[in-house]
Amino acid sequence: MSNPEIDKRKTFAIISHPDAGKTTLTEKFLLFGGAINTAGAVKRNKANQNTTSDFMEIEKQRGISVATSVMGFEYKGKRINILDTPGHKDFAEDTYRTLSAVDSVILVVDSVKGVEEQTQKLMEVCRMRNTPVIIFINKMDREGKDSFDLLDELENSLKISVCPQSWPIGQGYTFKGVYNIYANQLNLFEPDKAKVTEPVIQVKNLQDDLLKQYLKEKELDKLSGDLELIEGIYGPLDTEMYLEGLLAPVFFGSAINNFGIRELLDTFINIAPSPSTREAETRVVEATEKNFTGFVFKIHANLDPNHRDRIAFLRICSGKFERNKFFYHTRLEKKLKFSNPMDFMANEKSLVEEAWPGDVVGLYDSGNFKIGDTLTEGEKLQFKGIPRFSPEIFKEVENRDPMKTKQLEKGIQQLTEEGVAQLFVQQPGNRKIIGTVGELQFEVISFRLENEYGAKCAFRPLTFRKSSWITCSDKKILQDIIYRRASNIAYDKDSNPVFLADNDWAINLAKRDFPEVEFFTTSEFK
Ligand code: GDP
Repeated sequence: MSNPEIDKRKTFAIISHPDAGKTTLTEKFLLFGGAINTAGAVKRNKANQNTTSDFMEIEKQRGISVATSVMGFEYKGKRINILDTPGHKDFAEDTYRTLSAVDSVILVVDSVKGVEEQTQKLMEVCRMRNTPVIIFINKMDREGKDSFDLLDELENSLKISVCPQSWPIGQGYTFKGVYNIYANQLNLFEPDKAKVTEPVIQVKNLQDDLLKQYLKEKELDKLSGDLELIEGIYGPLDTEMYLEGLLAPVFFGSAINNFGIRELLDTFINIAPSPSTREAETRVVEATEKNFTGFVFKIHANLDPNHRDRIAFLRICSGKFERNKFFYHTRLEKKLKFSNPMDFMANEKSLVEEAWPGDVVGLYDSGNFKIGDTLTEGEKLQFKGIPRFSPEIFKEVENRDPMKTKQLEKGIQQLTEEGVAQLFVQQPGNRKIIGTVGELQFEVISFRLENEYGAKCAFRPLTFRKSSWITCSDKKILQDIIYRRASNIAYDKDSNPVFLADNDWAINLAKRDFPEVEFFTTSEFK
């Protein structure tokens, strides 16, 4: 049975390698949705200068204005929820987790730089869950790569089929606009950062005389030739394949000039999936089920030491969330109700009475939640799909103020629960090892431990660069590797054994010595 509340919801993330234009595109979407009135209203949540103070300043701002974590607005009868992701690569894992809470993504690629390192990593995460992807090739107002080459590059490096929906006429200095292939429209480009609409010329087909008024003969010839090639190579859009995450529709435009955005947004609301199913450990949950379920994918700390509460971001998966109703916290096995849940419409937070699958609500939390926690109406359920990824930098925590040992322990526990970094414990002596994907995270942890918990610590660098979760059906063999390779073994927050190694070679050696043991680079495995 379909439910109009569910069908109208489109929950997604805009992702990109830093600087490709994610923030700009987000802002333009909000402008279209009437959620903001002026450009510049969306905070850039990134630390360009790479310094801690800078980053902390931004984090502080975000702490106050958590509203930017989710941006909801209505557009053409749909409720759009954009989930924000951090721009800095050191916080990539936060982005990966947010991707577990969306139903699709728009991937922004810079036409000058093409596919970049973070573009590839993000795509790998999308592939893990078969998340449908639409690609927006941005900055067409600059002299970028050839459009056919870009399509090839997308297919080859992102390992996904593509299907262009619009096609650029010229590029950079000669950029005239795009031709909307399936609607047979010519969208003319006028560089202007302030405007919201662009001139659209509706034509019957490429032979339409109207086109000659706007395009030079040479441009028209090139366009006809290109489109013929495109039809031959890519054919019409197969939305089934898009929904399965196998094929990405591609749009060209210029976010800063508000060009190509409306057709992107209009196609998006037409083809992007509404909430449907979610995998839990024991079964698949349908969005249309009557009973409420949801999971926490992000925890945001209030950085003001006087207000220690945190906000847990809950993605609703099925049923209806209601204020002041008791829900069942499946890990703690206890009932909780929320009197001040927050909604994030129009870029502002406000009290929410009820929310539906696809929505994200913010719950004030005094320490009940960890990332991945599931709420239900009583069923014992645990949603899957929020794996932890192998960190690449490992450092041992050294307490610098023995009087504050308790505070340090608590701080480390809470910060790792928030997902700032991963904690591993190594024996003997309960040595605490923090694993991250970036150096910046250590600085943030030190800063926050001192500011919020009054604890001081130092980090002793370790030589480990790789980690794999290990398992074996024969528990004796698992014990054997744990015993014989004790210096490589640590335990994660769920007490699962993890093999830490200096390089791939060392991991391969262990695999050879213990062929029955399985090694995994994410925490979620069968
Ligand atoms: P993010 O790091 O992916 O969020 O990227 P931003 O949205 O902050 O954009 C990075 C830079 O690219 C900013 O200086 C933008 O003004 C610029 N930019 C964004 N879109 C365009 C575009 O279409 N053309 C050009 N020339 N610059 C753009």
